[in-house]
Amino acid sequence: MNKAILYKGEILYKYGFPNHVMNPDRFKVFLEKAGKRSFLNKNTLVIKQSKPVELSILKLFHTPRHIDFVKKMSDRGTGLLDYGDTPAFKGVFEIALHSVGATLDASLSVISGEASYAFNPAGGWHHARRDRSGGFCVFNDIGVAIEYLLRKELVEKVYYIDIDAHHGDGVYYPFEDYPQVYIFDVHETGRYLYPGTGFEWETGKGDAEGTKVNIPLNPLSGDDELLRAMDKAYEFGLEIEPDIIILQAGTDGIIGDPITHLQYTVDGHRKAVEIVKSLADKTSQRLVILGGGGYNIHNITEAWINILDVITS
Ligand SMILES: [Zn+2]
Repeated sequence: MNKAILYKGEILYKYGFPNHVMNPDRFKVFLEKAGKRSFLNKNTLVIKQSKPVELSILKLFHTPRHIDFVKKMSDRGTGLLDYGDTPAFKGVFEIALHSVGATLDASLSVISGEASYAFNPAGGWHHARRDRSGGFCVFNDIGVAIEYLLRKELVEKVYYIDIDAHHGDGVYYPFEDYPQVYIFDVHETGRYLYPGTGFEWETGKGDAEGTKVNIPLNPLSGDDELLRAMDKAYEFGLEIEPDIIILQAGTDGIIGDPITHLQYTVDGHRKAVEIVKSLADKTSQRLVILGGGGYNIHNITEAWINILDVITS
């Protein structure tokens, strides 16, 4: 039976911002519901505590200047980390280090064979760029993990799939010209939603041309559009034969989310996760899943319990 890892931790589960649409209640309610419904004591599930990433590893993706800036703002405890969406507060630096640490450990654990699947609900911060925070994303855990895996030559091909309602600009642009990084990103069109990017003609640059797929959806798109895209993501994955799959499984495309205009159902979101899991099972058996965005507590917690169920069954 394949093992699955769930990351938790007192500091990790503080990821969020005070009086903000992205707040840490999502983790508390998820753990309570998952515990009550006996999803945390399955014998295929291992629960691991997060540890902070080392600064030398964080620097593989982020500029020293950005890291110093976040540290300074975290010590100060007020102000903004970007141009408007992402407030600073005391301790945000350490919390963000744990988030990156958990995603990196998740990647290394599936590569070592300790588990086949690993889930970090407090990861998937796909808007943070090398030199700045953005869209509630302080450090980019995905970017750091990908840089580490490639530089240490632990993998040859990474397949990053992103079903968050927003385009993963912080993964797309930094790796736009990396032929080893394959990206499939389905999201609400940038014509109406932050960050305003991710159009179908954005398919990679230079040697990496053709290694990226963007599927922008119109507002009010639902399960049919999502699952049609996921079938393409599956076919693309079979062609790639990746050494690891990283899924940013943002839940903000589910109907009832307060900040987007997509209409996936909780069940449609689960089916998308199942498609990615079956792709992992057919290829490398190494799948990292990240919680990403999501601002409707019912949708988030039901979808995360589904993820736990899918990777432990
Ligand atoms: Zn999002």
